[in-house]
Amino acid sequence: MDIKSKNINTIISPELKTNFKNFPMVPRVIFGAGCFGQLGEILLPKRVNSEAPFIFLVDDVFEGTDLISRIPLIFNDQIIFISADEEPKTDQVDALVHKIKNDYDHLPSGIIGIGGGTLLDLSKAVAIMLTNKGNAYQYQGWDLVKKPSIYHVGIPTISGTGAEVSRTTVLLGPEKKLGINSDYTTFDQVLMDPDLTKGVPKEQWFYTGMDCFIHCIESLNGTYLNAFSQSYGEKALELCKEVYLEDLQMDEARNKLMMASWHGGMSIAYSQVGVAHAMSYGLSYLLGVRHGIGNCLVFQHLKEFYPEGVELFNKMKEKHNIQLPKGICSELTNDDFEIMTNVALGLVPLWENAIGKEWRTIITPEKLKSIYQKI
Ligand code: NAD
Ligand code: ZN
Repeated sequence: MDIKSKNINTIISPELKTNFKNFPMVPRVIFGAGCFGQLGEILLPKRVNSEAPFIFLVDDVFEGTDLISRIPLIFNDQIIFISADEEPKTDQVDALVHKIKNDYDHLPSGIIGIGGGTLLDLSKAVAIMLTNKGNAYQYQGWDLVKKPSIYHVGIPTISGTGAEVSRTTVLLGPEKKLGINSDYTTFDQVLMDPDLTKGVPKEQWFYTGMDCFIHCIESLNGTYLNAFSQSYGEKALELCKEVYLEDLQMDEARNKLMMASWHGGMSIAYSQVGVAHAMSYGLSYLLGVRHGIGNCLVFQHLKEFYPEGVELFNKMKEKHNIQLPKGICSELTNDDFEIMTNVALGLVPLWENAIGKEWRTIITPEKLKSIYQKI
């Protein structure tokens, strides 16, 4: 019998089948203050031909700045400025794909995302949807992408989300906020130049950095924890503590936070996030509260789940004189709370990681409502 006609189970006996994730990592990374200057030489060998452009999706906060003049444009390359005021949406991805296909006869050589988690996620999704049929919302979920995406590069300009390293792109769709989780989502190249984060406003620096801190706490205190996740999570947590509790030089702090984001992302790649993220998705879905601040708004009330983490969070918040907004949920109706609670409760793996298989005995709609009411 040739090997093709054998049933796979006769080759791998069921007892030997395991369920470990075989997840892709970013194959190429460049790191260092000023490394943005090498982007041109990195892209050159990836150019398919002179008709196949590179498309740069850039946070519009950089419009008119020096960074734009440093983007190595040649032939018919194009810069598209995009606002990060709102989190990325599936129909925004579809519109971008439509525009790019309309503007050129050929597929681009690649998509380069320059910005925070919003721009990085949009770039990953556009790279996927240029080669896959249909609409982006059809791919929200796990491993639904059929064809490899085009070459795509992530260039973070703010540190914390770990979107530069993850195999997901979180999108708000018509029915749900959910990522396109696939092996084709991960960037082919990441360029980490800490100098690009120089202009980040202080509050945003705190909120996005706390996303990383919360990734660490949720991963390190979760039931899914394993040596792989722990090794990255502990390093990221140590870096967050240095950045937010010590008095580092500015450039050292920028370097360290960029690496914290990377390690935090690696940590959750092989475990999961937890209570703050599940509940923050509810806030984001109903009220459009953005990811970083949403996590902070929830996390401050999670002492019962993460006592040490919340204590550290409060110290960091005080040191940097951050005032979180209050009364976000004070005017909400019972229906509103139900919507948020349903979104949060739907994120089963997050609860399983946070509490364990029996999480439903502890986490009830009333419990979540009582936490939301404090926000
Ligand atoms: P962001 O991209 O939403 O940007 C936040 C703000 O900072 C924006 O106003 C932006 O213009 C500004 N900004 C960014 N860089 C700047 C700079 N250098 N100077 C001045 N202003 C700058 O921020 P974020 O917190 O990085 O991303 C949040 C998004 O990331 C959410 O959509 C969230 O769902 C997503 N996310 C994705 C993953 C993933 O694994 N894919 C993980 C966590 C979060
Ligand atoms: Zn997060």
